[in-house]
Parts: sequence; structure tokens; C-alpha cells
Amino acid sequence: MLLATVEQALQRILERSYKLEAEEIELAEAAGRTLAEDIAADIPIPPFTNSAVDGYAVLSADTRHATSQQPVVLKILEEVSAGSLPTQTVRSGYATRVLTGAPLPAGADAMVMQEDTERAAGIVRILATATAGQHIRFAGEDVSAGEVVLTRGTVLRPYEIGMLATLGGSVFKAVRRPRLALFSTGDEVIEPLRGVVPPTGKIRNSNLPVLEALTLESGSQIHTAKHLPDDLFQIEAALLECCGGVDAADVIVAAGGVSVGDRDFVKPALERIGKMELWKIAMKPGKPLAFGSIGKTLFLGLPGNPVSVMVTWELFVRPLVCDLMGRNDYRRLEAEVVLQQDIMHRPGRREYIRAHISQGESDLTAEVTGNQGSGNVRSMLHANALLVIPEDAGALKAGSRVKALLIQN
Ligand code: AMP
Ligand code: MG
Repeated sequence: MLLATVEQALQRILERSYKLEAEEIELAEAAGRTLAEDIAADIPIPPFTNSAVDGYAVLSADTRHATSQQPVVLKILEEVSAGSLPTQTVRSGYATRVLTGAPLPAGADAMVMQEDTERAAGIVRILATATAGQHIRFAGEDVSAGEVVLTRGTVLRPYEIGMLATLGGSVFKAVRRPRLALFSTGDEVIEPLRGVVPPTGKIRNSNLPVLEALTLESGSQIHTAKHLPDDLFQIEAALLECCGGVDAADVIVAAGGVSVGDRDFVKPALERIGKMELWKIAMKPGKPLAFGSIGKTLFLGLPGNPVSVMVTWELFVRPLVCDLMGRNDYRRLEAEVVLQQDIMHRPGRREYIRAHISQGESDLTAEVTGNQGSGNVRSMLHANALLVIPEDAGALKAGSRVKALLIQN
């Protein structure tokens, strides 16, 4: 069987993707969600012209000759703090004390910041010339009323949430979070409990916590998170349990049991109760990846080695989940980087080497993050990039330029 390339595999997976429906949500649940409607401004932002500084509202013409040696003296009309309103018009010879965020009084065309003034009883000395418009935030300078500021498909980061709140978007439509059923597998795998040393032959379960964290980070929700023994019937039962019904999982992600071992039962289970559409990809780590479906639920069986789980999630699960949410920003930034050490590679499969990229004098440089065995979780620590070593490449020397996917959010 000819192995699929990474691109072919991704294309097959995305062909089976669809758009999840929208639901109404509140601002407090907005982080990481995808907007499912356009949001227009109901008012201009800022809603009224106001001061950007603590200082004095003046007529700029009055301050034309002001210097610290020869200050211009103005009479203070009143004080306006944020949240209150001015009552008087500023005329020549007068100033109003205005605090940051308070409305600019009528008549004034500039703010003089406090640092450029001296105050005495009932008067203020202006020590510097003010230009018209300075330190003023004009109504609508950020957003005009009626303008569409946020469009459907936008991912809501804290920054977009700030804009939504500014626009009064307390309730709005967002794409439903994908429901992911997560399974780790293996008779050798035990729950990671602090202070409990695994007996010889057993290892702690790292894949399930990783899958849970990746799920939440992706903006998805955890439908199920469970460890399964290497038992065909228990695996089948667990997979079937999260498919079908109104609250079925949208995607199952299982780790382990998809290779050719006698006790790899995840792939056989998929073949028996669902449909397998793709198996084995010409990549390292992560060759034996199984993709298919069980009923309406899409299924991704990732190879069980901890680094394979992380890399295949990055390359296949993340794009799928983004697409389900209507996001098209799954593509990572790519950069050309300069290797700081030699890399072994035999032509055949494309390899994803974990590396730490930093800014060199004129180039980005890549330090490989230690032993690259697909069981070595440590190689992912401090990794902010995957170096893409082409299928046909041989060993690469230090100083070579390679492509890197920047995986840090
Ligand atoms: P498998 O794909 O099931 O053959 O597993 C490949 C390798 O990954 C084996 O060495 C497993 O022991 C290891 N492995 C599988 N599942 C886990 C897990 N949940 N946590 C840590 N290591 C695992
Ligand atoms: Mg296994």
C-alpha cells in the first residue's frame, strides 16, 4: 500500500469536514470561540469626544506664545472628571480642568497635559504651546456608527472580546464548540498519580492529559476522556458509546493501537464498526495514522507514541477542528531557518524535527531539542517549531537552510 503524503492525508480529512451549527452565547463564554455573525457598531467609538490626558481644555490660539519662561495664564472655569459632564463653554482666557476620559467641553479645541502646566488658586499657567486637536480622542475615530467591525469566522481572542464588549455584543452567535471524544489505549498504561511509581513494565498515561489540553486549547470541548485496555470488544463498545444520538461526539481522537502489532485493536475496531478511509502517512513521527468515521462521527486514530500524538494533532487534528469551527487560520507561519547542528535523515518519509527557533543576527536559527525518538516527550519541551525535512533529503549539515512550521500560539 502506497503511503499517503501529508498533503494528501490532510486533503482527505478536510474533504470529510463540514461546518458546525451556530448557537447563542454570552461574552463570558467567548474566549476561543468563532464568531458566527457579523457585528456592526450601534454607536460611534469613542461615543463622545473626550480627553486622552489629565489636564486642561483650552483654545489652542490662547497658548500660541506660551513657554515655561513666559506662561499664559488662564482662569479655570470648572472641573470635569470621567463620567461627569462639562456645563460651560470654554472661551478665550479660560480653561476647564478635564480628567482622562471625560468629555471635552464645548469651545475647547486642545488639551494641555497637566505636566505642561502649573496651577494656582483659580488659575492655571500654560507652559507650552498647544496645537489644535492635541490629546483629544474624537467621537468615532476608532469606529464609525454602523460599520461592520467583526465578521463571521473571526476567532475571538481577548482582543476581539474587548471590541465585542465595546460594541455592546453581550449576546451573539458563535459556532458550537466541536465535541471531541478522547481515548488513550494500552495495557501497559496506568493513571499518572503523584507518588505512585509504575510497576516494571507499566508507564504513566501522558497521552490522555495531552489530548485533553489540546482539545481545550483548540476551542473544542471534551465529550469523553477515557483510557481503554487493549481489548477489541471494550474498544468497540467505548467507541460506539460516543457515536449516535443527539449529543454524539463530532470527532473521536484515539491514541495508540493503530499499528500492526498483535494487540493493536483500535484500527480493527474502526474497520468492524465504522469505515476506515486512510491509514499510514509518509511521515515521521506518526506513520500509522488511521482516519475514518463511525456513523456521523469522524475518527482519527493517532499512533500512541507521545510525540507522534503531538505532531499528528498539530498536522491533522488541529486543521480539522479549525475547519469544523469555520476557521481558516490553521496554517502555521512558515519560516526559513538555519540549522545549528547536523541532522541525520534517510530519504523516504518526511520528517518533522522538533526545534527551538530564535532570532540570530540576520537569520532565524534552529536548535534541535535533543533526542528525537518519538517516545521522548522531552523533545517537545521548549520546541516552538517543527523543522520540515523533505522526503527526498539526505543528512543535512549545520548551516543548511530548512523550512520550519512555527507551532507556538
Ligand atoms: P502503540 O501505538 O499503542 O503501539 O503505542 C506506541 C508507544 O507509545 C508504546 O511504546 C506505548 O507504550 C506508548 N504509549 C501508548 N499510549 C501511551 C500513553 N497513553 N501514554 C504514554 N505512552 C503511551
Ligand atoms: Mg498500544
